[in-house]
Amino acid sequence: MSVHPNNPALKSWIEVPQNSDFPIQNLPFGIFKTAQSTERVGIRIGDFVIDLKVLFVLGYLENLPFELSDFDNKYLNSLMEKGKKGTRDLRNRISKLLDSNFTDLQKNEHHVGQVLIPIDQVTMCMPVKIGDYTDFYSSREHATNVGTMFRDPANALLPNWLWIPVGYHGRASSVILSGQDIHRPKGQIKPDPNADPIFAPCRNLDFELETAFITFDGKALGDSISTAEAEDYIFGMCLFNDWSARDIQTWEYVPLGPFLAKNFASSISPWIVTMDALEPFKCDGPEQEPKVLSYLEFEGQKSYDINLSVNLQPENGEENLICRSNLKYMYWNMSQQLAHHTVNGCNIKCGDLMGSGTISGPTEDSYGSMLELAWKGTKPLKLSDGTERKFIQDNDTVIMRGYCEKDGVRVGFGEVKAKILPAK
Ligand code: CA
Repeated sequence: MSVHPNNPALKSWIEVPQNSDFPIQNLPFGIFKTAQSTERVGIRIGDFVIDLKVLFVLGYLENLPFELSDFDNKYLNSLMEKGKKGTRDLRNRISKLLDSNFTDLQKNEHHVGQVLIPIDQVTMCMPVKIGDYTDFYSSREHATNVGTMFRDPANALLPNWLWIPVGYHGRASSVILSGQDIHRPKGQIKPDPNADPIFAPCRNLDFELETAFITFDGKALGDSISTAEAEDYIFGMCLFNDWSARDIQTWEYVPLGPFLAKNFASSISPWIVTMDALEPFKCDGPEQEPKVLSYLEFEGQKSYDINLSVNLQPENGEENLICRSNLKYMYWNMSQQLAHHTVNGCNIKCGDLMGSGTISGPTEDSYGSMLELAWKGTKPLKLSDGTERKFIQDNDTVIMRGYCEKDGVRVGFGEVKAKILPAK
């Protein structure tokens, strides 16, 4: 008997708190360690982590294309090398082992004790060894807001924007795990437009609310991935805060685009939610007009209904909800981004990370950056402790969360969180 792992009726014999991001219908992958154990692959359910290394050693993962080293590993890359089918079969197997209707693991108390680890006993680690990092610029609302502020409200979108999923190559070395604090970057800024630039700590530090997807191995150099094939090359998604130094960016970005304003840190959430788990939350995206070129055309639903939020927490203060957005607002979907990325023959690799670009919605409370929320500093945000923010201050913590919800099932990402420390 086989039950689809996304079936809303599925229940696990492991208790999952109501409103948890991690019911049996999710089963995201991550890397964790404990006081007693080295880094290894885990799957999250409720407030527990399933130790896949131990599960493998105990013989529960037989007849799957994996070996011990795929689970006894500092990264998910080795597991992701098995591609869509291998990782799908693995998630299906875990789903069955955790399903209340199946007793194989459930009945073996001794094994359960070895495999199931309470979340408060684990330390999460960087899930993926990221090869290349690409960031897109795919929210029409965000691009329009930025164009309005910095160029011309009448021509806010540049002429190419409605034709090309605009992107740039970022830097993988500074993609870091949620929870790692970041020192305020320093660089060249030009606070007085009529004077020479100065070297100083960034004054306009910002977050960017994004999601990111992680790829499987792509095709050979010279080949392209179509929009119809794209989802077969995507393992899963995480939350992504693409930290940005707006004053450094303003001075440096012409003519080649972002450089030091963007490459000092980008934070990701620790659990990679598979595209399989997100399948029930597909939806239509915005209508695309003018009609896109043929290699960007697609069939069916390629957007995802993922609720996103940003909270800002001052030191010793409470969280302030400052933004609610949704991935469904994105103009260019992930399949189009990947098709565009490879249309020239560029090869993607297992473990590449692709950022969505800042995800702004249509309303002022759905803008995905401080730049937009406080409208270039002209509308400071008021926090519950009485202070105001135009940008992020030292010792502020930014927390992003995301989840999907449908038919009584909530599939979420947890959070990506980081605190800004003073400049070194
Ligand atoms: Ca970005």
